Amino acid sequence: MSNDGMIRVSVGTAAALGLVNMRCDVLPSTAYLLTTGGCMSQCAFCAQARSSKTSEALLSRVSWPEFPVEQVIEALAKGNSVLQRVCIQVTSSSAARNMAKELSSDILKVRQEYGLDYEISLSYYPLSVSDVESLFSLGVDRIGIALDAATHRIHEKTKTGSGSWENTIRLLEESAMSFPGKISTHLIVGLGETEEELAKTMQRLKDLGITIGLFAFTPIKGTPMEHVPQPQPDTYRRVQIARYLITCGHVAASDFTYVDGRISGVGVSFEALRELIGTGTAFETSGCPGCNRPYYNERPGGITFNYPRPLTEAEIEKCLLEAELECLDQT
Ligand code: SF4
Repeated sequence: MSNDGMIRVSVGTAAALGLVNMRCDVLPSTAYLLTTGGCMSQCAFCAQARSSKTSEALLSRVSWPEFPVEQVIEALAKGNSVLQRVCIQVTSSSAARNMAKELSSDILKVRQEYGLDYEISLSYYPLSVSDVESLFSLGVDRIGIALDAATHRIHEKTKTGSGSWENTIRLLEESAMSFPGKISTHLIVGLGETEEELAKTMQRLKDLGITIGLFAFTPIKGTPMEHVPQPQPDTYRRVQIARYLITCGHVAASDFTYVDGRISGVGVSFEALRELIGTGTAFETSGCPGCNRPYYNERPGGITFNYPRPLTEAEIEKCLLEAELECLDQT
């Protein structure tokens, strides 16, 4: 194993695996691992980027201490009632790609040997569709190819040195066609895009059969975007509702109404929206099944962009009101 056989583990995952003794309000339901050595890309929002002056032990606002791979594998082998998935977050470098492949094989062996049932995701920027194919042939269950930016314009502003937006869309499209139901992506809300741009891109991804995970932009000290604020809660709620309605096939982005790029309505009455929203999964962390990313974008006591657990009735009502949507019965 490269890099002295070390792997980064999100601090919540380390607690869930018993690698550190720490009390957590909500434990992660996915074990998040991160390759070491930083990233060759230069995304302006990311602590792992080449241009970032922050600690390499950060990704978003979460810290990721290093542990020996053997220790992490041993902890995973014990099984864990909380964990439903292992996600290896792979930075852009050939060393990281090799590390991720070796680590995936090791975890897959342990999963088989101990009869464990967690799935394995790789959050990975592939070189080509045949690269994706080689990962699936190892036995990995899902691959997340992060789009991050909703449009070409936002990509050019925030992801220089990370290929082109069109290339990522093409990789997503071709991978989704070859491996239906096994490709996820991430979109970041708050990079300067409009809600309309997000809704239309989410519709395009949904039509390709791609699972969408939403992140709220989170400024990290030492990155070029450290002074950019997080999205407003009303924006985030509208985008969450849009993602949910689009991905469940309830309403298409073309049936929403927009005013100056903001989603003003989703084409249904308040009563119908309340019924569609049901138990509030729209406001829970989205992405691969079982991925809850606690405190990834949230400070304890601050705005909960992505709920890492089921919502209470009162929280669902609050989120719906925060969205400030015009419903058909109110117009
Ligand atoms: S949605 Fe979650 S589990 Fe899936 S690739 Fe992204 S971080 Fe990993």
